[in-house]
Amino acid sequence: MLSVRLAHYYCCVLAIVTFPWPISGHAQELPHAQHPLNLHPIDWSQLLSLHRALVEIESISGNEYKVGEYLHSYLTAHNFTVERQHVDPLAADAESSRFNLLVYSGDKHSARVLLSSHIDTVPPYWPYDNRENNQIWGRGSVDAKGCVATQIQAVEELLATGEIAGRDVALLFVVGEEIGGDGMRKADDLGLSWETVIFGEPTELKLASGHKGNLGFNIKAIGKAGHSGYPWLGENANSMLIPALVALDRLELPSSKKYGNTTLNIGKMEGGVAGNVIAETAKAQIQIRIADGSAEKIKDIVVDTITKVDARLELNFLSKGYGPVDIDTDVEGSKSFNHYSKSPTVCGNLRLHLLGFDTIVVNYGTDIPNLHGDYKKYLYGPGNILVAHSDHEHLVEDDLFAAVEGYKKLILAALA
Ligand SMILES: [Zn+2]
Repeated sequence: MLSVRLAHYYCCVLAIVTFPWPISGHAQELPHAQHPLNLHPIDWSQLLSLHRALVEIESISGNEYKVGEYLHSYLTAHNFTVERQHVDPLAADAESSRFNLLVYSGDKHSARVLLSSHIDTVPPYWPYDNRENNQIWGRGSVDAKGCVATQIQAVEELLATGEIAGRDVALLFVVGEEIGGDGMRKADDLGLSWETVIFGEPTELKLASGHKGNLGFNIKAIGKAGHSGYPWLGENANSMLIPALVALDRLELPSSKKYGNTTLNIGKMEGGVAGNVIAETAKAQIQIRIADGSAEKIKDIVVDTITKVDARLELNFLSKGYGPVDIDTDVEGSKSFNHYSKSPTVCGNLRLHLLGFDTIVVNYGTDIPNLHGDYKKYLYGPGNILVAHSDHEHLVEDDLFAAVEGYKKLILAALA
């Protein structure tokens, strides 16, 4: 396992290098680096401090302004050019504005490689917590602030060692990924193109070879309220909705060898106002993860199923949806990286030999379908999706350090 090898590697480094500050468990006490050129090959304190700062700022979808502000000032202080791209608030009366950040240090039109991740999180917010065994807990610690921090660190380190030039790479941090991707769809309007885009989502430090497609929709039943003792005088919306949900739950949907079964989740239901009142309205929110075929085909199955149960039910698809997304994994295998020798005082003659990445198929959606264009795409990041979105979202510091190396390897491979 790559992570095991890297963990071993870092242990070796720690054993021979004397740092002027504690390495783990006290990120809040660590000093920031002043300038990219002062970076050590792995600047532990800068990475952990940046990750901590990002996680400490609540940025549930729709409320990304503060974390965007923080990133803007951080990246400007680190000599990057930062452009803001306004994204509409979620509600017309919302006070908080939102924006994507396009980040570069050369000419944005010349960048061949783009690294991108999202700065919003799912609710609820819960704070950063540095626990024993170098664990970092908190909302967004995995999804996807681990990716944001390590992508920035990777680019800074490659710039500092001169392995890439400012014109080679740009970064794009978007809002709204967790609610359908309005940020990335807006970024699609930038009119920029890249040879390679490296998307950051938790993949356990593996290269994702693809992810399932996605189709979300709502069903609404409208009945007629009345006294529960006289049900024949009303029309119970719950009774209209329930058979439709049962039919959906029993659907056999297409499967594929690569992605497994198409799955359907009845995620939210609500209906009626009280036990003694005939329910006037009822509704449900449903998400389908598509393993085979197009979203259009699945949509037809859903419409047909619902119509047969009760044609009065209202169906509202949240977007066009998309089928399974195949992702590139053709990174050169074993490769020796010798850039550590450029900072001999820190790492001496140590060499890190990264083996080829393991690959993984994931069941979650990403912003990839929202960024159109003919480009090579990779999906990679620290942390495990199984803890993301949960009340035990966390990763270990070694994952962050390893992800910096992984991103560097992907960038160099893309530019080779
Ligand atoms: Zn994510």
